[in-house]
Amino acid sequence: MQTLLLWLFYISTFYAFIPGMISRLFGYRVFRKGISRTDYCLTFDDGPDPHYTPLLLDLLKRYGAKATFFVVGSHAEQHPEIIKRMHEEGHLIGIHNYVHKTNWLMRPATVRKQIDQTSDIIFAITGERSTYYRPPWGIVNLFDFSKRRQVQIVLWSAMFGDWKEKLGVERLTEKLLAKLGPGEVLLLHDCGTTLGADPNAPEHMLIALERMLEEAKSRGLSSVRIDEMIRAVRSSPVASLSFGKRLLVGLWLGWEKLFQLLFQIKTVSREDPFLHYRLRKYQGHTVHMDNGETLSKGDKVIELHFDNRQLFELGIHSRSTAQLAIRLIRRMEKDLPVLAERIAGDVELAEAKALYGVSMINRGPEKFGFMVLDLPSGLFASSTKFYLSILLSVIHPSGGARLKERSDQLVPKMMLMPVSQLLDQMNHQRPQKPVPQERILEDELALNAELPGATVVH
Ligand SMILES: [Zn+2]
Repeated sequence: MQTLLLWLFYISTFYAFIPGMISRLFGYRVFRKGISRTDYCLTFDDGPDPHYTPLLLDLLKRYGAKATFFVVGSHAEQHPEIIKRMHEEGHLIGIHNYVHKTNWLMRPATVRKQIDQTSDIIFAITGERSTYYRPPWGIVNLFDFSKRRQVQIVLWSAMFGDWKEKLGVERLTEKLLAKLGPGEVLLLHDCGTTLGADPNAPEHMLIALERMLEEAKSRGLSSVRIDEMIRAVRSSPVASLSFGKRLLVGLWLGWEKLFQLLFQIKTVSREDPFLHYRLRKYQGHTVHMDNGETLSKGDKVIELHFDNRQLFELGIHSRSTAQLAIRLIRRMEKDLPVLAERIAGDVELAEAKALYGVSMINRGPEKFGFMVLDLPSGLFASSTKFYLSILLSVIHPSGGARLKERSDQLVPKMMLMPVSQLLDQMNHQRPQKPVPQERILEDELALNAELPGATVVH
């Protein structure tokens, strides 16, 4: 019996879990997330539902949003008029099996039948065949990979537990707003009759979605169909990178995320990350800064980091180093005033003497008032050079070739700017040191009013 169970475990791992893990980790052979500056995707599973789906279609129409519906074949069969309406209103219809059952428990031939049957139903109603498939619960098995020639498997970049009523409208709205962003593929449900779901959960979904659509409108984001997003990805320069390079970029960005968590790195503009920062103690040699202040070992500095994803995207979309430099300067112009305001409203941050960063992109920072200094030669300088040159060969438009060509210019340098200088430039005052306990309360209102950044939550 034990042996049998063990074998079952091995087989199931091979059949379902490992492919599932691979597809989740590397997005291999499945589509999970797009690349865009302005578009995201709304996808709805399990419908159509005779009550909620028409309400959803009304809502989408009001906002001019296009969505992708992964429909259950048996539901589509019962409500052909809703499928017809989806099609006429410009939404994309995808397949979510004939009955809502996991592929893990079905033989490959049965899965095949589930897909074909649903595809036939959609074809009979709309006259078009769907080639987009989302397996229930996103569980793919090995044979789903082999089917890829016929259907494109689509998963998601964010889901929200919207099938449970107890999540509530407020929490769902919060979660949606936190994930709303370009390239995201959001998964919601327009039917609550699936096993494990609550029948009236879509009611909450509709309210929360309306709030999110309102926010998307104000941020200039629009919802497009999955096929449109996939086309955009295929024509993007990322698609032309080799698999190895894409893997390297993926690992790198994953490492960066981990680094940000471990060292509690904060982000200047969370909706469009470019500069990250953390408060730390300066470890280098004493430096006399331009404004007469001295920076010594142990002084607090605000250490700056570029966002590697943003650098990578700017890099691959730039035709030349000059164009990349211009784009970096534009982004810097956007983030520095925000950072200044943050410092002006944060007593702890304002204790820092200088902004500090080490970068190989050091031909523009003087423009913003940074001093650019050589790193003292030694292990730190050489290891930093090694690290940054790999990074740059990954993100730079012309990659490693460019690096060899002008390696003299690509030397990591230290960039410094006194915090007081940044605050002066942006017309901010350094916040006052904390006042004794009894005065805090009466001064609090006044302080908040004076310093707009004081109420910023990180
Ligand atoms: Zn489902």
